[in-house]
Amino acid sequence: MIKAQIPQIKSLLSSPKNVVIVPHRNPDGDAMGSTLALMHYLKTYNHDVVVITPNDYPEFLKWLPGDQSVLKFDSQTEECKLLIDKADLLFTLDFNAFHRAGHELAPVLENSNSVKVMIDHHQEPDDYAAYTYSDVSMSSTCEMIYNFIDMLGDQDKIDETIATCLYVGIMTDTGSFRFKGTTSKTHEVIGCLIEKGANNSEIHNNIYDTNSINRLQLLGVALQNLKVIPELRTAYISLSQVELDAFNFKKGDTEGFVNYALSLKGIIFAAIFIESQQDEIIKISFRSKGDFSVNEFSRAHFNGGGHNNAAGGRSETDLQSTIDKFISILPQYKHELSQ
Ligand code: 5GP
Ligand code: MN
Repeated sequence: MIKAQIPQIKSLLSSPKNVVIVPHRNPDGDAMGSTLALMHYLKTYNHDVVVITPNDYPEFLKWLPGDQSVLKFDSQTEECKLLIDKADLLFTLDFNAFHRAGHELAPVLENSNSVKVMIDHHQEPDDYAAYTYSDVSMSSTCEMIYNFIDMLGDQDKIDETIATCLYVGIMTDTGSFRFKGTTSKTHEVIGCLIEKGANNSEIHNNIYDTNSINRLQLLGVALQNLKVIPELRTAYISLSQVELDAFNFKKGDTEGFVNYALSLKGIIFAAIFIESQQDEIIKISFRSKGDFSVNEFSRAHFNGGGHNNAAGGRSETDLQSTIDKFISILPQYKHELSQ
């Protein structure tokens, strides 16, 4: 979205509309923070606004202001379809291709007659929206929602509720302000959000200090399973469904595990392979340091994508075959990984 389009969006928003806001499947902190912040903002203009997630999200996000009003497409399908059907405006946040909403919701979004707005910071956006605000240099979609509200001249509408939601997404997507996408502007935005009432230490506690003993012990298993390929500066972790079951796995429990592999001295490429019997796939997370693009790696080999240093992917074969494939591909990247 270029600034020149802001007047058009302003005029779209000048009378009450039915608005639906959707994040990607398996929503994370940035997805939930950005959708809920935008919901609270648009409600100040008396729009009828609802957040519809493709599926459920982790417990550690369920304290966010407005959480109780969120509808989940996979369990409330008919209600969601009706709302999408009558939507005048559809905001898609923190993703940039319909398939990221999952194969059930994707066609419903695609066939909707609503005016579509995309706000997202991932690579290679599709061209489906009437208004696209796509910027891969942004730390998070939440930082972009802050900019969006600012461009609309509504800084003063950011209250404690909106500030809290935005703080969550910026904090989680930047690994608490340490990843490369964190700029001085990001810190300025965070400073402003704290001024508006976001309680930084309370938010951090709510997100990160809610471990169950099961999750910590599952982390123990993950660390036992950690393998290192020193000559390719690569480390990876695997978790089987049996291991997940043994510790009563809940959505979100493995969040951040891959970072332990990346924290090893000298390692610049890390992966975690997690078996999901329910989805009949191996869910993969890739992380890197420096120039090695896990977005390109995942797009090329594991049906995924994301950012240069953080991407997701999937495999439809079993856990061991997936790991074998990963190991067999690595030598192709010997030059990039060993320099
Ligand atoms: P995670 O490993 O935490 O699931 O995802 C890391 C980043 O990659 C996130 O920004 C996420 O939105 C993105 N991502 C995860 N899975 C996929 C995928 O299958 N396709 C694409 N394009 N992006 C993904
Ligand atoms: Mn994000």
